[in-house]
Amino acid sequence: TVRVRFAPSPTGMFHVGGARSALQNAVFAKQQGGVFVLRIEDTDAARNRPEWTEGILSALEWIGIARDTYEGPLFQSSYHAEHTKAAQQLFDAGRAYYCDCTRDDVQARTENKFSGYDGFCRDRGLAAGEGRALRFRTPDEGVTKVVDLIRGEPTFENKLIEDFVIARGDGSPVFLLANVVDDMTMGITHVIRAEEHLPNTPKQQLLWEALGKTPPVWAHVPVVVNEKRQKLSKRRDKVALEMYRDEGYLAAAMRNYLMLLGWAPSGDREIVPWSVIEDEFRLDEVNPSPAFFDEKKLRAFNGEYIRALSVPEFTEACTPWLTGPFPTEEERAERGYGITPPPWSPDAYDPAVFAQVAELVQTRIAVLSEVPSYVDFLFLDEPLLDEASWAKASKDAGILPDVIAALRDLSSWDAESLKNTLVTVGEAHGLKLGKAQAPVRVAVTGRSVGLPLFESLEVLGRERTLRRLEAAAA
Ligand code: GLU
Repeated sequence: TVRVRFAPSPTGMFHVGGARSALQNAVFAKQQGGVFVLRIEDTDAARNRPEWTEGILSALEWIGIARDTYEGPLFQSSYHAEHTKAAQQLFDAGRAYYCDCTRDDVQARTENKFSGYDGFCRDRGLAAGEGRALRFRTPDEGVTKVVDLIRGEPTFENKLIEDFVIARGDGSPVFLLANVVDDMTMGITHVIRAEEHLPNTPKQQLLWEALGKTPPVWAHVPVVVNEKRQKLSKRRDKVALEMYRDEGYLAAAMRNYLMLLGWAPSGDREIVPWSVIEDEFRLDEVNPSPAFFDEKKLRAFNGEYIRALSVPEFTEACTPWLTGPFPTEEERAERGYGITPPPWSPDAYDPAVFAQVAELVQTRIAVLSEVPSYVDFLFLDEPLLDEASWAKASKDAGILPDVIAALRDLSSWDAESLKNTLVTVGEAHGLKLGKAQAPVRVAVTGRSVGLPLFESLEVLGRERTLRRLEAAAA
């Protein structure tokens, strides 16, 4: 049976490119009736932190890879004995040798002309010892051809593959070896991973062969790049799945979008139910060229997904941004992400009031973290005044005393009547509705953009509306 694995290193936040690979592995496994193994590559003790492992599991769960759908998590660190056994086996078979050269030695000998190891210790017959690395003896002739579902048969000249290190001077096995041995131990048949690892692949395939096993089928999925065609990087780009989650991207939108990196469903469609992706996705149809992670497009996508929700679903989805629970400021600083609490005091929030505007909000936003800024004026004593907006709108603030007078006597406090009032008062001042409503909008909501004004006033109520207009007119 087909066995695939996703093998993240718990050294930081969970990268969207990783999420993409995980989803592709999961879909492929499901299509093949196979097994998805989650392996945490936790052997870099200096960089690993257990909370990153927990972060990976919850990020996977969020994106739709539930804990009961995979084998594991298995931890690379618990297979140390297998790694050292394989290193010993390669040494015993004469496929690896000990080497005490320092980097400076090699550079001095090769005058920096050769980019890899020069093979100096190949035939020195050194025994194991402190400070001696174990190197794999690569063939001098021929080629190593790998079978890659996405890239055909990438072929590498063996003479260009250096005798690479498989265990360090302190005896600890390196990533290249540990990764291969784990794949063998776990019976992996297909290695679906990021293009960044393609240069490792001939080395790893040589290890498979030297250890007497049939190598897996490989599939190197495209590198994910930003709008400048640079590889997405932690320092430069927003790469953490958690950040998108806390900004209010819906998991369904996110996973749909991630599957479009290098692939598309039939019929010019992009937004499709997950079941269509599970039916139609073909690993061998993935485009090998770099995939552009288009944040603008993702935002638009998310807006579409938000609009496809029912109002109750939408309201439910907004809860984390409206009522929390919220992380503390310290937690946010520590993690580098986290939902920001809304500006109102928690007991001021009223779900019944939100319900009156939910649908209006739903049609206007792209991400859920925008919701509080549309409704905060309903739950704050005073609106958060945007000074620049007021500076502009206050040019026509001369209208406010007449607006206040008219609204005080308005017989029915509803959007329709409110609008008619503003039209009438505006006309008396020679102002079109757009101009007439600008100072009212900023005075009442604090901003020049937002929900439709008259519906907003209707929900806010006469008393609070008048109080805010009077404050602004004073
Ligand atoms: N731990 C490696 C990574 O996160 C996995 C490489 C692989 O999938 O083989 O890049």
